[in-house]
Amino acid sequence: MENTTTLPPRAIEDAKRVGMVSLGCPKALVDSERILTRLRADGYAMSPDYAGADVVLVNTCGFLDSAKEESLAAIGEAIAENGRVIVTGCMGDEAEAIRAAHPAVLAVTGAHQYEQVVEAVHTHAPPTQGPFVDLIPQPDIKLTPRHYSYLKISEGCNHSCAFCIIPDLRGKLASRRIDAVLREAEKLVAAGTRELLVISQDTSAYGVDTRHEEREWKGHPVRAHMTDLARELGQLRAPDGQTPWTRLHYVYPYPHVDAVIPLMAEGLLTPYLDIPFQHAAPAVLKRMRRPANEAKVLARLKNWRDICPDIAVRSSFVVGFPGETENDFQYLMEWLQEAQLDRVGAFRFEPVEGAAANALPDPVPEEVKEERYARLMELTARISAEKLAAKVGRTLPVIIDEVGEPDEDGDIGATGRSQADAPEIDGQVFLRGVSASLAPGDFVNVRIEDADEHDLFGAPA
Ligand code: SF4
Repeated sequence: MENTTTLPPRAIEDAKRVGMVSLGCPKALVDSERILTRLRADGYAMSPDYAGADVVLVNTCGFLDSAKEESLAAIGEAIAENGRVIVTGCMGDEAEAIRAAHPAVLAVTGAHQYEQVVEAVHTHAPPTQGPFVDLIPQPDIKLTPRHYSYLKISEGCNHSCAFCIIPDLRGKLASRRIDAVLREAEKLVAAGTRELLVISQDTSAYGVDTRHEEREWKGHPVRAHMTDLARELGQLRAPDGQTPWTRLHYVYPYPHVDAVIPLMAEGLLTPYLDIPFQHAAPAVLKRMRRPANEAKVLARLKNWRDICPDIAVRSSFVVGFPGETENDFQYLMEWLQEAQLDRVGAFRFEPVEGAAANALPDPVPEEVKEERYARLMELTARISAEKLAAKVGRTLPVIIDEVGEPDEDGDIGATGRSQADAPEIDGQVFLRGVSASLAPGDFVNVRIEDADEHDLFGAPA
């Protein structure tokens, strides 16, 4: 099972046990954490395996057809291994397809239907009643390592990109209250989080739906707005006085994004932006119906780098979108050459059931998609290798993710990430010669000795 969690030590012996298989993106992982937190408050314990679970929850992803297949396979495995399965998450909105493939599922609930999924667990595995229920609240259950946490600021999206069904699955933008978001962040940092990853479908649109509603925070008003949020997150301090790293994901290059770059230059916000550009050719962007589709992005990137030279920009791109000509693709390649992005992920266009793009004319043949994908990956790998090579000889702050055992010479290695690397999607820093007292979540200054296309190698400075 993926992303399972273990029984909290204080849980009662005969509590009903819930297994969790969490598929999909970090946003789905945050949902899984919320569901488990609710269930634990109701007296349930968690099972790390199928065998020990009274019921298994499968949190599905329904974004791409391949993700749906993976979700259906995970449901099938849970039914074969345990038999008592409740399905939730994005694919839960397609209950009929799930029931057709797996008639034995006990219940199907959709994305963010926390109440319904908890109710389904109560129905199919009623909680054990007894005098030993622990009434002392424990910190929220986390499926990510303790030293980094995802901070979800909103659900849904107001855009209508042609290849995406998220607005249909998750509804219109619904922003959380800024004081609630900041309180959660403060609690996470007090509990050991050293890196906050701000996520949503469109972080730069935070608060648009609530007209940037103002709330009181620490004696002053703050708006539900990305710049206020970034400024306040930059004020958080860990119990030892260190400034936690805060990364902004899924940001669109609207003009107000410029306001957070000085916070990065001051060291209050991690100099990192995850901007899903998806393409650069104006004709393709128009057919994709992408937000913040403006011609001046390259000039903005240059301006950001002038203010904060260390800013790392990560992005993702789709090749082979219907109607993409060789000229459009060439435009994208030249744009990438100029943009010099630090990290790039690429996808070959894949129709998603229900997406408007499926009706577009001029599909790109599979072999052309493959060929363009290979060319794009080759170019971006070369840019990445050059950018990483330029870091050799520098000393960079690194957050530690994992510390190894001493080898036969007593040398201890560790893996971590630089400020340019978000967990799970970017590169790593491999360290040698670290101290035995080093622990995950520690910040270390590392002298970079070597680099390849994706990763850096070094030793504590
Ligand atoms: S911005 Fe576009 S791709 Fe992103 S969730 Fe909204 S509709 Fe989908």
